[in-house]
Amino acid sequence: MLKIREHIYTITENLGSNDSAIVTEEGVVLIDTPHKPSDALDWYAFVRTLGEIKYLINTDHHPDHVTGNYFMPGVIVSHEGTRKNLIEKPLTPEHTRELMEFMDKPALRLIEHGFFYRPPTITYSDRMQLYLGKTEFRLWHRRAHTPNSTLIYLPQEKVLFSGDIVCTIGIPCLGGSCLREWLQVLDELEALDFTTIVPGHGEPVEKSYLPKFKQELQTIFEMVRDRMGKGLTLEEIYDDVHYQPDLIHCSTKEYIGYCDAEIEKFRKATLREIYQQIEKGLL
Ligand SMILES: [Zn+2]
Repeated sequence: MLKIREHIYTITENLGSNDSAIVTEEGVVLIDTPHKPSDALDWYAFVRTLGEIKYLINTDHHPDHVTGNYFMPGVIVSHEGTRKNLIEKPLTPEHTRELMEFMDKPALRLIEHGFFYRPPTITYSDRMQLYLGKTEFRLWHRRAHTPNSTLIYLPQEKVLFSGDIVCTIGIPCLGGSCLREWLQVLDELEALDFTTIVPGHGEPVEKSYLPKFKQELQTIFEMVRDRMGKGLTLEEIYDDVHYQPDLIHCSTKEYIGYCDAEIEKFRKATLREIYQQIEKGLL
């Protein structure tokens, strides 16, 4: 658990997204929720001690950011596309079960009855502000990691919660990402007045990390472009291009993450997305 500011807590060690709690004079605002139900219960046991949970903001619709919604109180806020995805195409109960079988077996009973991907009930399309006491939250929609990603900026605190638009522990899955726009967003953030980035995954960093992450993305894009230039097929590119995947999803000695097949699925989805966007002239 990290204390980013006097009243801002972030947990970075759960599988899946970083989860944050901002304490205001008028209650607590959460950002994203754990992927494992057992982590969600632990997180809830902590955040409930901070005050009444008023709002929960989801930065995108991916399961590693929203599964724990079900276990939290509070009104959920997100971009309209995030709600749409959760309503229209949530992970199937079978797929959810399959993931939990591998990574959170003791929690299977928690999703047995009544579990669902609790969707946001307040949405916005371009930007919105939330004011709780003296704390101001600016929510901005950007097409980047997903077409419906949200950045959350706290101007007084000079903190940016970037969701997966910035990750500091490897490259997240780029399947469904808006790649060119993503690079533009990273440039645009240079002009914003903040000091700390709480990324979607990995340890918080200073603003100076932005170009480094942009470079990491570009390096993979260029590897794919280079292989395409040499006439390699997508299948051959799968075999030829390797990079550091998002480690937070991988199993370690102490920790069970996604199974290898799931990680491999992400890697291929990433390379396919880059390939297709280059092919269409979008990147
Ligand atoms: Zn994520």
